[in-house]
Amino acid sequence: MDKELKGIEVVRRITKELKVEVEQLKNDNIQPTLAIVRVGNKEDDIYYQQSAVKRCTGIGIAVEEHIYDESITEQELINEIVNLNLDEAVNGVLILRPLPKHITDSLVCAALDPAKDIDGITDGSLAGVMKNDNTGFAPCTARACIEILKHFEIDPSGQNVVVIGRSLVVGKPLALMLISLNATITVCHTRTKDLEAVASAADILIAAAGRAKMVGREFVKPSAIVIDVGINADEDGKMVGDVDFDDVVDVVSHITPVPGGVGTVTTAVLAMHVLEATKKQLGL
Ligand code: NAD
Repeated sequence: MDKELKGIEVVRRITKELKVEVEQLKNDNIQPTLAIVRVGNKEDDIYYQQSAVKRCTGIGIAVEEHIYDESITEQELINEIVNLNLDEAVNGVLILRPLPKHITDSLVCAALDPAKDIDGITDGSLAGVMKNDNTGFAPCTARACIEILKHFEIDPSGQNVVVIGRSLVVGKPLALMLISLNATITVCHTRTKDLEAVASAADILIAAAGRAKMVGREFVKPSAIVIDVGINADEDGKMVGDVDFDDVVDVVSHITPVPGGVGTVTTAVLAMHVLEATKKQLGL
C-alpha cells in the first residue's frame, strides 16, 4: 500500500460495485433517484452539487436539481421538503447547507423523512449512528473516513484513535462510528488542553477542525495513520487540509492527501446511500 491513501482508489471500487447494483435495479424498472436542494448560488454549494451530479449520473443514479432563490421563506422550503418526502420517485434528498440565515436549519432538517436522509442530517439518522442500527444514514463525510479505513484494510479495533473536531457533520458521528468498530476514541476540540500531547498519542489521527495546516509533525506519533478531513484555503487560495502534509509525510505510515482524499470519497458515499435508501424503501 502506498503511503498516500488516495481517495480515487476507494471511489473506483465503490462506483464499480454500485454500477452493477444500479444496472440490476434498472432491469427491474427501478430508477434510483437523488433530489438535490439548493438555496441561492453559493460557490461551494454549486461545486459540491456539480460533483454529486457527476458522480451519481456516472453510476446511473438519476438526479433532480431543486434550486431556489435566496428569498424563499422557511415555510416554503419546508413545504418543498415535505413534497420530496411524499414523492415516490425520489429516494434520497441532499439539502446543501448552511442555509441562508433567515431559515432555521434545525426545522428544515427535521422536516426531512429519515428514510430519504442520505446525508445524515435528521435526528433519526443521528440516533441510528448512536445506536449503530439501520435507522437513516450517517453523514457522508464521516462514512467516507470509515470507507477509506475499510478499503485500505486499516482495522481501528483496539487502536487509539484521536478525532480533532466535534461537529455533527464529521467529528461526533465519526467518533461514534469508530466506537462501533471497537476503537478507543478521544475527541478533541477548541477547549482541549495540550492538543499536541493528545494527538501525538494516536495510532490513527483524524483531523476535522477546519484550520489550514494546523497539524504539524509535533502532533503526530511516528508511524501513525492520518486521515485529513479538512478542506481549507491557504494564504494563496490553494486548497489545503488541516494537516501540514509536507511537514508530516515522512513521520506517518499513511496519510490521505488534500485534495484527493476524504473529499473525493464523499460523493461516492452519497451515491452508495441513495442506493441503500432505494433498496430499503422497496424492502429489497
Ligand atoms: P465545524 O467548524 O463545524 O467544526 C470544527 C470542529 O473543530 C469544532 O468542533 C471545533 O471545536 C474543532 N476545532 C476548530 N479549531 C480547533 C483547534 N484549533 N483545535 C482543536 N479543535 C478545533 O467544521 P466541520 O463542518 O466539522 O468541518 C471540518 C473540516 O472538514 C472543514 O475544513 C470542512 O471544510 C471539512 N469538511 C470536509 C468535507 C469533505 O467532504 N471532505 C465535508 C465536510 C467538512
